[in-house]
Amino acid sequence: MRTSAELREGYLSYFQSKGHLLTPSSSLVPAAYDPSVLLTTAGMQPLMPYFLGLEQPPAPRLASVQKCFRTTDIDEVGATARHLTFFEMLGNFSFGDYFKDGAIDLAWEFVTGHMKLDPAKLWATVYRGNPAHSLGPDEAAIAAWERVGIPSERIVRLGEDNFWSAGPTGPCGPCSEIYYDMGPELGCGKPDCAPGCSCDRYLEFWNLVFTEFEQHSDGRLTPLPRQNIDTGMGLERGSVILQGAGSVYEIDSFQEIMDWVAEASGTRYGESEAATKAHRVVADHGRGMVFLAAEGVKPGNLGRSYILRRVIRRAVQHGSRLGLEAPFLSRLAEVVIEQMGGVYPELKEHSQEIAIVLSDEEERFSQTLDRGMRLFTDVAKGKQVSGDDAFKLHDTYGFPVELTRELAGERGMSVDEKGFAKRMEEQRERSRAGVKGENLRVAEFSKEAGFKTEFVGYEKTELLTQIGALEEIAEGLFIAKLRESPFYPEGGGQIGDQGFIESEEAGADARAEIEQTFRFEDDQALLFRGEGFKAGDRVRAAVLWSARFPTMANHTATHLLHKALQQVLGEHARQAGSAVRPEKLRFDFSHDKALTAAEREEIERLVNEDVFANHPVHTFVTPIAEAKELGAMALFGEKYGDMVRVVEVQDVSRELCGGTHVRSSAEIGAFVITSEGSIGSGLRRIEAVTSGAAVNLLRERAAEGEKLQSELERVRKEAKKRPSEAGGAGPEIAIAREEELGGVKIVVAEVKGVDAEGLLAVSDQLKNKNAPAAVVVGAVEDGRVNLVCNFDKSLEERGLDAVAVVRAAAALVGGGGGGRAGMARAGGKDPAKLPEALQAAAEAILSAL
Ligand SMILES: [Zn+2]
Ligand SMILES: [Zn+2]
Repeated sequence: MRTSAELREGYLSYFQSKGHLLTPSSSLVPAAYDPSVLLTTAGMQPLMPYFLGLEQPPAPRLASVQKCFRTTDIDEVGATARHLTFFEMLGNFSFGDYFKDGAIDLAWEFVTGHMKLDPAKLWATVYRGNPAHSLGPDEAAIAAWERVGIPSERIVRLGEDNFWSAGPTGPCGPCSEIYYDMGPELGCGKPDCAPGCSCDRYLEFWNLVFTEFEQHSDGRLTPLPRQNIDTGMGLERGSVILQGAGSVYEIDSFQEIMDWVAEASGTRYGESEAATKAHRVVADHGRGMVFLAAEGVKPGNLGRSYILRRVIRRAVQHGSRLGLEAPFLSRLAEVVIEQMGGVYPELKEHSQEIAIVLSDEEERFSQTLDRGMRLFTDVAKGKQVSGDDAFKLHDTYGFPVELTRELAGERGMSVDEKGFAKRMEEQRERSRAGVKGENLRVAEFSKEAGFKTEFVGYEKTELLTQIGALEEIAEGLFIAKLRESPFYPEGGGQIGDQGFIESEEAGADARAEIEQTFRFEDDQALLFRGEGFKAGDRVRAAVLWSARFPTMANHTATHLLHKALQQVLGEHARQAGSAVRPEKLRFDFSHDKALTAAEREEIERLVNEDVFANHPVHTFVTPIAEAKELGAMALFGEKYGDMVRVVEVQDVSRELCGGTHVRSSAEIGAFVITSEGSIGSGLRRIEAVTSGAAVNLLRERAAEGEKLQSELERVRKEAKKRPSEAGGAGPEIAIAREEELGGVKIVVAEVKGVDAEGLLAVSDQLKNKNAPAAVVVGAVEDGRVNLVCNFDKSLEERGLDAVAVVRAAAALVGGGGGGRAGMARAGGKDPAKLPEALQAAAEAILSAL
C-alpha cells in the first residue's frame, strides 16, 4: 500500500471485510438538520442523527470516505506541512457494537498489518481525565494500547483536546489518537517534545472518539445507554506517512496540481519560504474551490459563500505573487478536475459551471483589488498604515495583511500590527457569535418579516419607501427589507444594482451604500453598513444610474448577440451562461471550435444592425405554455414558474428573462466584441462592450492606429537618413553564440557601427528572424558599452526577465540598466569586458529557462 488511491481503497475493503457497511461520501454542503454547520468538517457529521439517537443507522458498523472542508485553520494553510482546508477523511463507526477494545484492535491491525507502518514509530494519546467531571485517566484505552503492543512510555496523556462533545449538552467522551514519529530532523529538539508538541515531528493521523457519556445542562456526565465509536483518519496525512513525503503537498494526489503551479508560474516549489507557502495555498485552495463550486456554492459575502470567496481571493493573491497571471483559476480548476475527477465524478459533471463560477469571481476580485490599491495609495501617507486601514483593506478589499505589509515596506512604511490584531480579534468574536449560517439567517429574517418586498426596479430607479424590517447582524452591519425596492438582486446573469438608501430620520447625512441584495424567489432583502437606521424609517432608495444604464444596455445586447450567434453558427449555439455588468458583458455558449474572423465580424455586424434599426423592447408576463408557443428561448437548467416574463426585442428575439432592459435597441449605442475564446470543451466565451464603453474603446483603437501610422513614418524617414550617417555601411553583426533550448533560440552577438537605437533595431531583427528567440546584443560606442536584451513575448510567461539578465551582464562592464521583462537596456564603462558580459547574459538565460 503506497498511493492515496490504494490507501482509500484498502481502508474501505479492510473495514468491509470486518463487517462494516460502506456508505458513500455525503455532500460538502450538509443536509438541513443542523443549520449551524456551514460545511461538512468530519466523516461523522453526516451520521450525527445516528449519534444523537434521532435516527436508526442502516447497520451497526459503517465505514466511509468523506469529503471535508475546514476553515478554522485557514491561516495556517501553507505555513505548515500538514494543514489543509479540503481533505478526505477515512472513518469507521460503531453504533452500540464494538467499543474501545474493538476500535483499537481494528485500527492497530490496519496500521501495522495493511499500511505496514513500523510499530516502533507509533505513539498513542489518551485522555488524562478531569477532576471537574470526576473523570480519571482513560484506563481502558491505555490497557488496550498496551495490549496491542505500544509500550507505556509511548502512550501520552493529554488534556481537554482529547475530550469530544457534540455541544454543551448531549453525547460526549474521551478520544485517543495515533501519531507517527516523522523523525527527529523535523522536531524542535526540546527534551519534552512528544505528540501534542506544535512542531512537525509527531504527525497525528488517526483519531478515535469513544462516545461514552451524556452531558447534562448542569455539567453532570452519565453513561450513555448505547456507546458509540467514531473514528477519522486524514487520507492525505496517512499518505504522507506511506510515501515518506515531506508534507501533505508532496503526496501523489497533489503532484499534478503542484507541477502545474510551478510550470505556469515559473517559480519552483521550495525556491523560498514565501514561494513554498504560496504554492501550497494555491494548490490547497484550488482543490477547495473546485469542490465547493461543484456543489453549487456561489461566492458571496456570508456563510459558505464567503468561505468560497475567501479561498478564491487568497489563491489569486498568492498566485499573483508567484507570477501566475490572472485569469488562471479556470486552468487551475481543469488540473484539479483532471487529478480528482476519477474518484469524484461530480467534478467532471459540473466542470463548465465550476469554470464559470471561478473565473467570474476572479474577475470581480481583480476589480476589487484595483479599488483596494487606490485605497492603499490614499492611506499610505506618513510613517505607518493604521490598524483600522489595514483591517479595512483586509475586510473590505480582501487584502491579506502580508500584502499590505509588503506594499508598506516598499514605501518605507510600517503597519500598526497591534491595532490590526485588535480589529481582527473583534471580528473573530463577531463571527464566533454569529456562527449560524448567514444566508439561512437572512432567509429566515426575510420570511419572519411577514411581508414581501415589491420590486419596482423595472420602472423606477429611485423612490421614497419605508424600512419594513431591520436587524443588526454585526456591529454596523444590517439586513433590512424595504416595502418597495428599486434594487435589482443579482440573478439571471445580471449583476445586482449598486445604490444607496438615505433617511432624514436617521440623521443629517445617514446614507448607506447597499452591499448586497439577496433574492428569495419573488422577494428580496438588503445588506448594508450604516448608522442610525431603524425599522419604520422613511427612506429614499436610489439605484446608481451610471451603473444601471450600461448594465441594461449590456443585457439587451446579450439577447441580440444570442440571436446573432444562432443565425451565424447555427441553432446549437445556445446560451450556457452570461454575466451582465455595467462595464462589459460576457456570454458563454456551446460551440466546438473557435470563431473565424469572418464569423466574428458577421456577428458583430448583425448585432449593430439590430441596434441601429432601433427595435422597441417590450416585456410581458404570460403562462409558460404560451411563451413557448411564441418561440421564447428558455435557458437550460433554469427553473421557471407557471407564469413567466418574456423580453421581446421586436422583430428580433423573445427570451424568458427577469433582467432589466433598455426601452429600444438604439439605446445600446454601439456593440464591440473584445474577445472570443474557449472556456472548456465545447464551450466558448465572448466578451463585448456597448454604449459609452464601446465608444471609448473605438476611440482608443483609433488613437493607437494614428500612433502606429506616425511611428511607421518616423522609421521610414530614419531608414532613409541612416546610410549617409553611417557612411553607407550597415551595422556589422558578429554572432558570439547561438543555441537552442526547449524550442527557444538564444542568440548573442557583438555589433559594430551602431548607436544605442541602432543596437535596439538590430536586436529586433534578430529576434524576429529567429522567433521565438532570446536575443542579447552589445556594442561599443565612443568608449562606452551598450547592451540590449530583447526577448520574445512568450518567454515572459516562462519567467524569463530581461531586466535581470541585462543587469547581470552590465555588472561585468561596470554599469547598470533597466526596462521591462521583455526588453531591457544597459550601459557600461568597460569595453574590454564586453565579450565576457555577453557570455554571462547567455548563461543567465540558459539557467532561467
Ligand atoms: Zn517538538
Ligand atoms: Zn436576459
